Amino acid sequence: MSKGQRARAPRGPLVLSSVSAAQAHALSTRQSGHTLGFVPTMGALHDGHLALLREARQRADTVVVSIFVNPLQFDSDADLDAYPETLEQDVEHCRRAGVDVVFAPARAQIYPAGFQTQVCAGTLARPFEGRSRPGHFDGMLTVVLKLFQIVQPHFAVFGEKDYQQLLLVRRMVQDFHLPIEIVPMPVIRETDGLALSSRNQRLTKTARKAGLALSGALIATQDRVAAGETSVKRLLDEAKAALARTKGLDLDYCAIVDPRSLERVFSVRGPARMLLAGQVGGKDKVRLIDNGPLFPPVPL
Ligand code: AMP
Repeated sequence: MSKGQRARAPRGPLVLSSVSAAQAHALSTRQSGHTLGFVPTMGALHDGHLALLREARQRADTVVVSIFVNPLQFDSDADLDAYPETLEQDVEHCRRAGVDVVFAPARAQIYPAGFQTQVCAGTLARPFEGRSRPGHFDGMLTVVLKLFQIVQPHFAVFGEKDYQQLLLVRRMVQDFHLPIEIVPMPVIRETDGLALSSRNQRLTKTARKAGLALSGALIATQDRVAAGETSVKRLLDEAKAALARTKGLDLDYCAIVDPRSLERVFSVRGPARMLLAGQVGGKDKVRLIDNGPLFPPVPL
């Protein structure tokens, strides 16, 4: 077993922990003419991630999943420390999903001493998550670019759950001429509507109930639009009133935007998407985000 390779479970994925081993794997996969599909994650895998893995499995000869909790994209140490880490379970999920390689590097592999170059996100990063989490998107794009350089995929699958992130990754791929297709996947939800998230593990029963107000407001708005309402003012007044009535929810934003530019729109006669975020929970605050297309849905 070469340096940087960890034990391989019977017919399970190869687990690589070093950048050099992952790059060597990418080189040999590409040399043998295989299509390489990539799903970057921060682990604590759930059904939302698994949908991405399935999509990659269908499209690629070789599927690589990365598991790396990226310190550069956290603006709070408490949030970083509280982020769940469940590598063994994650590898088992990957085995069942037919993943070929799990790349799970230590922090020092990705950010060795002396590291100092970062990607600087553009204007798309300013509103919404960017406003609430300063530096988040620079850190996210930096690690995604690094992972692309290491894994060298033909395509990478990203969830619409992190909609602004998806747009920013697409933008970076265009701006840096990266020969990588970005494949979007719709938001996967619990049966009651709550968008799946690794952070849901930290929700108390009361916090979860408060969090459900976000998907509730989104679904109610989608229904109002399907019933013919086109005024963004009326839609937002109604959604925000319902959210304000929710005990234990500290709303960050609730907006209706153009799905490509994230600029606010005034009517939903054209393409529109609703974006929401808020904090729930008492002492252990959890930040939740949600979003979805309003009528008419547009391909990204
Ligand atoms: P994370 O581990 O939270 O960084 O997420 C890794 C990838 O999974 C990102 O592309 C997310 O957008 C995607 N993802 C997370 N939750 C969901 C979900 N509920 N539905 C679809 N994709 C998701």
